[in-house]
Amino acid sequence: MAAGALARRTARGDARPHTKLRVAVVGAGAFGGWTALHLRLLGADVTLIDSGGPGNELASSGGRTRVIRAIYGSDRIYSEMVKRAFELWKPVAGRFYVETGALWMHRGDDAYVRSALPILKDLGFIVDKFTVAEAARRYPQIDFKGVKSIYFERKAGVLSARDLCGVVRDVFVKEGGAYRGAKVPPQNLRGPMKSLSLADGSHVDADVYVFACGPWLGQLFRDVIDGSIRPTRQEVLYFRPPAGSDRYRPGKLPVWIDFGQRIVYGIPDVDGSGFKVADDTRGEVFDPTTGKRVVSDEGVRRARQFLSGRFPELAKAPLASGEVCAYENSPDGNLILDRHPAARNVWLIGGGSGHGFKLSPVVGEMTAQAILAGKEVPKTFRLDRLKKVEKRKTQFESKKD
Ligand SMILES: Cc1cc2nc3c(=O)[nH]c(=O)nc-3n(C[C@H](O)[C@H](O)[C@H](O)COP(=O)(O)OP(=O)(O)OC[C@H]3O[C@@H](n4cnc5c(N)ncnc54)[C@H](O)[C@@H]3O)c2cc1C
Repeated sequence: MAAGALARRTARGDARPHTKLRVAVVGAGAFGGWTALHLRLLGADVTLIDSGGPGNELASSGGRTRVIRAIYGSDRIYSEMVKRAFELWKPVAGRFYVETGALWMHRGDDAYVRSALPILKDLGFIVDKFTVAEAARRYPQIDFKGVKSIYFERKAGVLSARDLCGVVRDVFVKEGGAYRGAKVPPQNLRGPMKSLSLADGSHVDADVYVFACGPWLGQLFRDVIDGSIRPTRQEVLYFRPPAGSDRYRPGKLPVWIDFGQRIVYGIPDVDGSGFKVADDTRGEVFDPTTGKRVVSDEGVRRARQFLSGRFPELAKAPLASGEVCAYENSPDGNLILDRHPAARNVWLIGGGSGHGFKLSPVVGEMTAQAILAGKEVPKTFRLDRLKKVEKRKTQFESKKD
């Protein structure tokens, strides 16, 4: 990857190179890794710490693939972040990004996509509207029965999530950052943090501390987060397409989202590991450390039932593999990016809520600019809003839409 190209891109913004500040970042998932990298590129002395490693199998970033798309209903802030995210992923992602476009199929109301259209147009993203007949011609492998409206987002695709966490950590280290494999115990802060004790008895001294601990953030800061990060159990299944068929590969099939009573989405077979199908409905509350990571017979049965209607050729396709992963849901589905209320040199970042991966380069940039240049963080991401919010329904559907 061209670290220089990324450095030129990150030079944008208000953060001034800051050579003296020492920052400890806990969590080398998508959010912490990118935060550490931005801080380092802007001159800070950064130590990145993770107990399981970047993109480890228990982490929310630990799945094979994640979708990047700019349609976010009327949440302009996220569409803007995606535009910036594409710029920041570009010099880093290389072969770990595959552009496929995203096909949005609606069995009923398509207000979520419709409300995004003016925003996307304004930001320069192209969205096509297809008739059912046109879509069926383009994608003969899909049965569009019951689908009333179809949109195609041209600039969208697939990021290889766990690989990219490793790439970001490696670039960070190459740029002079320090990485440590260690566990950090739960915190109970009553004032500024002076030193970070690690479970192995050692400690890291810094001026600023960032905690980007994904589904574990609530366990680390029970007094502050207090149930505001709710990890849920999500199953992801990979089915093996028929031998010799390229109909489920990028180029022939985009990322797709099927808006019905449930929201089911999927990813074409980008790397030979299979055709991905996932149900975005929030699963049961899940402990990210001890929760059982075996896909359920019921999940497989339900996926096959879905496939037999929408992708009939795959109804009996062999199951290649499955993943059980934790969404890290905030109450309104919005991110969390704020200072600890009692420790002003401590920042808490998380709440990716099943849609955070794509945004992580921008989350890192916002955090670095807030720390180094005092740049204000959007109100939507602050901790004090958490008391007021209602539940957001799904990754793709906001209460605001
Ligand atoms: C099934 C699934 C599908 C998803 N699909 C998409 C998608 O299509 N598009 C999209 O944009 N997003 C998607 N997401 C969401 C996205 O993956 C997450 O929002 C994002 O990866 C969260 O990153 P994070 O860095 O906050 O958390 P994590 O990746 O969980 O990273 C937290 C890190 O902190 C470390 N850590 C935790 N506690 C400690 C401790 N005490 N001491 C030391 N280290 C610690 C962990 O080891 C971990 O590495 C999906 C998520 C899931 C689960």
